[in-house]
Amino acid sequence: MSQLPTIAIDGPAGAGKSTVTKLVAARLGLLFLDTGAMYRSIAWLVLEANLALDDELKIAELVSRAKIVLAGERVVVNGIDVTEAIRTQTVSGKVSAIAKLGVVRAELVKQQQAIGAQGGIVAEGRDMCTQVFPDAQVKIFLTASVGERARRRQQDLRDRGQGEVSLAELEQSIAERDTIDSMREISPLKKAVDAVEIISDNLSIEEVVETIVAMYEHVVNK
Ligand code: C5P
Repeated sequence: MSQLPTIAIDGPAGAGKSTVTKLVAARLGLLFLDTGAMYRSIAWLVLEANLALDDELKIAELVSRAKIVLAGERVVVNGIDVTEAIRTQTVSGKVSAIAKLGVVRAELVKQQQAIGAQGGIVAEGRDMCTQVFPDAQVKIFLTASVGERARRRQQDLRDRGQGEVSLAELEQSIAERDTIDSMREISPLKKAVDAVEIISDNLSIEEVVETIVAMYEHVVNK
């Protein structure tokens, strides 16, 4: 194999993609790419600039000037560290409306493909298997029930000191995000026909990581 393989992981909000992606990348010595962080960064910029969510023209201009740097765990946009700011409920509530815009997707997909051009990457998002890396050697659709995903998000927010959000509120915001992400016209969230589905409700993080690492090793040793 001339270049290292790509692992593409898609799935709905709160399925554990970020955690799993980072652990798989660390285990295999690969780069990780959190594409949700890129969409969240644009959403953050749109909110900061007070733009209407459907103002495609102004948003296009903003996206073309935005410089997103993913440096390990940190996310820096136009020189500002937004690592924590992009994880608030305010950004989570608006990001899907911005991620469905063609101008936003075209630019970010281009950047993601450039980052992954050499392979050796674990990329997670909604359209990694279907659109961004359709030739990835390992394709995963990682999902879990809405209830389980809301519980994990609640713990996540607690751990990050972002306060207490009720399960009902989280379930509603996750379900809304799922609906917008799966119903949108461009690159909707869906399982690629050749992706392997992993339902993580009753699996530990380690079990999910092991499954993906085994799939990768099978491909590399072929
Ligand atoms: O993965 P995360 O929950 O951080 O993603 C935030 C939002 O960004 C998603 O709900 C979705 O609207 C958008 N997104 C996307 N395509 C990706 C990654 C994220 O549309 N590849």
